[in-house]
Amino acid sequence: MQNIAILGRGSIGLLTALELNKRYPNIDITIYGKKNKYSASYAAGAMINILSEIDCFNVNHPLTKWKLKNRSKAIQEWDNLNQYLINKNILKNTIYTSFGTEMSIDKNSVNKVEQSSLKSIVNTAKEYSIDIEIENNQKKEIVLIKEENSIDSNTLLDAIDNYLKTAITVIDCDVKALHKTESENWLIEDFQNNKKKFDTVIIACGAWSENLISKSNDIELPEIQSFYGVGCALLVKSQLPHVKDPKLKEIRRTPNRGGTCGIHGVQRINSIYVGASSHVSLLDLKLPNPESIRTLMDGTEQFLNIDTYDLAFEIAMGYRPVTSDHVPIIGSLSKNLFCLYGTKRDGLTWAPYFSKYLINYLFGDKDNQWDELMHLCSPQRKHISAGDIDECIDSYLLTKEWEDYQHRRNFNEEKKKKLRKMAQEAHEFINRNSEKKIGLNPEIINAIYYRNCK
Ligand SMILES: Cc1cc2nc3c(=O)[nH]c(=O)nc-3n(C[C@H](O)[C@H](O)[C@H](O)COP(=O)(O)OP(=O)(O)OC[C@H]3O[C@@H](n4cnc5c(N)ncnc54)[C@H](O)[C@@H]3O)c2cc1C
Repeated sequence: MQNIAILGRGSIGLLTALELNKRYPNIDITIYGKKNKYSASYAAGAMINILSEIDCFNVNHPLTKWKLKNRSKAIQEWDNLNQYLINKNILKNTIYTSFGTEMSIDKNSVNKVEQSSLKSIVNTAKEYSIDIEIENNQKKEIVLIKEENSIDSNTLLDAIDNYLKTAITVIDCDVKALHKTESENWLIEDFQNNKKKFDTVIIACGAWSENLISKSNDIELPEIQSFYGVGCALLVKSQLPHVKDPKLKEIRRTPNRGGTCGIHGVQRINSIYVGASSHVSLLDLKLPNPESIRTLMDGTEQFLNIDTYDLAFEIAMGYRPVTSDHVPIIGSLSKNLFCLYGTKRDGLTWAPYFSKYLINYLFGDKDNQWDELMHLCSPQRKHISAGDIDECIDSYLLTKEWEDYQHRRNFNEEKKKKLRKMAQEAHEFINRNSEKKIGLNPEIINAIYYRNCK
């Protein structure tokens, strides 16, 4: 292989380019993509969370089990990256902004999703011998997860992006389409109408990957659909010299709450990041939802105990790349064409691991764990079930009920009936060509319904 193009300047694209440049400095590497304020990687907190990402919906999923088996390696890759960036003077200081994750729920919490998710975390820690501490006080049940630290994704990715501009070719323009050449290599056409041939191409365009693939006639679109997982967060800080910035020594978060807005506070270099809303959409919505912002503001005051009266905030917004079965799409789309997208809410955590093993794979190094992941995430796979259909529909109704509770809206029998019908139709669609009884994750049901059944 003489030249390679990486499409997308988010965490997956940038870290893959960095890894390739580190290991194969003689290969001609080009990375494409306009700087994009909605990139998921820049909107991420960012928490290096694996055990903390377990919830009552994903706990028994094959991908969750794979992640737990490979947890230590993924965390180790962050330490390796940290060392490399400091040694190369790409970053002056450590990439970590805080250490450990404190997960807690209010003892009076009436939210059954978060209670059951916290239980799943504690049980999983036991099963996989992960070191946690449990604390109970009058108000809260707290689980302290060591090793799951935070980083400032903007500082990290900007530093890598700036370094790559000096080391490889960075083209500040999106790709319009890919065309297969006679020799089964790829001709890239960008939005400035420039064309260039590459031996190998990696698509890492996050939530936009499906759009690019669908515009390229020589590539078959995976059966698994992809959506925009819209997420908003607040960046809370002081803008007055006499008012101190709030600080956090560890990540402080609730368990995931399915489709509703779990709260997490994460130390960034110049602010506290309070995230994050979650809404899976067919469209790349451009404006934040006021109700999500209100919930984040309440969470800042009530959950994180930050007095915001004298503080200011900015809004960060981006799209998690979400697939219809909540499993990423990783693998070959065609000869010499690879893709890696659909990493949803923990893609940043896995970016150093993914980039290392992807490069190993492309250069012929075999690894059983990576093979297992590629098998699970194959672009040619059939839909992976999220569980029994009736249970998925019940979980969907439960998350909708708690979503309405959180957002102070009415959830009545009529609404429940309508939502049940939508969930049934979404399941009929996904099972239309299959004898398998595929259950859908509650978070994706609305998006599947509105894209395919309405
Ligand atoms: C609010 C929020 C909070 C999150 N928090 C966390 C967290 O705490 N921890 C964690 O691990 N993960 C978190 N995530 C998820 C994580 O950010 C993603 O899973 C991961 O970063 C996805 O990386 P990516 O490179 O695939 O996508 P992106 O970062 O979205 O990058 C894709 C890039 O491709 C570019 N592109 C699009 N179309 C084209 C084209 N045609 N040609 C070239 N380039 C193109 C885009 O402009 C973009 O720069 C969060 C996500 C959000 C939205």
